[in-house]
Amino acid sequence: MRIEHITLTHVRVPLHEPFRISNGEVAEKDGIVVAAVSDGLTGYGESSPMAGSFYSSDTPENCWRQLNEHLAPAILQQSFSSLDEACEWINLQPGSNFAKVGLETAMWDLEAQRRGIPLHKLLGGSRDAVASGLAVGLYDTVPQLLHAIQRYVPDGYRRVKIKIAPGHDVDLVSAVRAEFGGIALMTDANASYGIGHLDVFRKLDEFGLLMYEQPLAGPALEDCAKLQRAVRTPVCLDESLETIADVERAAALGAFRIANIKIQRVGGFRNALRVYELCRKLGLSIWVGTMPELGVGCAQGAALASLEGCDYPTDVEASARWFRDDIIEPWIEVRDGMIAMPSAAGLGYQVDEAKLARYQVAEAVIS
Ligand SMILES: [Mg+2]
Repeated sequence: MRIEHITLTHVRVPLHEPFRISNGEVAEKDGIVVAAVSDGLTGYGESSPMAGSFYSSDTPENCWRQLNEHLAPAILQQSFSSLDEACEWINLQPGSNFAKVGLETAMWDLEAQRRGIPLHKLLGGSRDAVASGLAVGLYDTVPQLLHAIQRYVPDGYRRVKIKIAPGHDVDLVSAVRAEFGGIALMTDANASYGIGHLDVFRKLDEFGLLMYEQPLAGPALEDCAKLQRAVRTPVCLDESLETIADVERAAALGAFRIANIKIQRVGGFRNALRVYELCRKLGLSIWVGTMPELGVGCAQGAALASLEGCDYPTDVEASARWFRDDIIEPWIEVRDGMIAMPSAAGLGYQVDEAKLARYQVAEAVIS
């Protein structure tokens, strides 16, 4: 397997509404689309860190630099005997997971096309459709939050995730429960609480939530274990789990019962599958999260969510949920809360070149 040339396209697509979490807000979605050409086939990947570096320290700009200056030129010098060897090489390169994932996932798309099978089958998926969950950001007022959820009720999303932050938590959950009754509900704090906020989570315990996603800071695994011992609701880790070693350490401490696997955060499918296998072995639950990415990354997330044992709905939503436009054809659709798996070989969605051109911030061809 040799890559002959690579085109990087940094695109910026406007959102319907700003997405606000506990420590920042974005109004546009940045993504770097990686198109890798080999033997007449084009594999697509996406590097999709959140702009403004408030989810992680990675930004679209530093991922662009890593891909353009090192990863893409360096892989053109390589020849691989298998997909696994290519993924291992990418894994060992200097640089961030958010940069590597664009290249790594393009290699999986190429391999699936070469074998003539859909990407979700190459990953080991067994489901024809995956359950999708609605995620909503932070709002200025409770009525705005309720309205945001109400707007998407007709799409049948299989659970609702709300963002919380210190001072905006029990009131929000209580209002959502009062308005929507027993819907499957969870919170995501994006690491904004400390162990001193134990009382908040004790109070939230009364609302029958599916999980508390990333309540405490990423490295605060001992505190997280204390929290998990103090509450009934399962703790889910997201930001804390960047590597296999993180998962092992957090599991040994009893810091969580559920893992949010993000292909972007762990640097590709191979690492995502390793986290998946380890969690299954340890009896921990898993589901697939998003940044959210544009269409390429979201289609990849949905494909991973088709694996047996992804116990909770994925954060992959319909393309039209966040974005005013998307770069794939067709768009990702959610019907009755489900996303159907495509049957075509590879990613199963076409990347729309005209859209790439329309939303392009920068382009580089490396050959
Ligand atoms: Mg999260």
